[in-house]
Amino acid sequence: MKNKINKMNFKCKICNHENGSDCALTRHLNKMHKISKEDYILKYYFNNIHPLCKCGCGNPVKILKSYPYRNDFINHHQTKGDNHPMKGKHFSKEICEKKSKSLCKY
Ligand SMILES: [Zn+2]
Ligand SMILES: [Zn+2]
Repeated sequence: MKNKINKMNFKCKICNHENGSDCALTRHLNKMHKISKEDYILKYYFNNIHPLCKCGCGNPVKILKSYPYRNDFINHHQTKGDNHPMKGKHFSKEICEKKSKSLCKY
């Protein structure tokens, strides 16, 4: 009866089947319900409403397989602010600079 809280995390929200691990839950979803972990998370954690980028561009963010189950922003959107492509076109220079900087790291 230990680890009861942990087990809750791996419990299938569709059929209440208890899974021993996150991997087991993923396998269970694929095999028993024929849905991917992403679809499951989208449906049961976000009520089928795809979370959107927090910068306000209206684009859906990536669903993550583990907590917090979503990205807050699409890549690079968190740094754009007022230079967002929906608002203007001054962003390209900024992005080019950032890209070349990150390329230097590698
Ligand atoms: Zn199930
Ligand atoms: Zn965005």
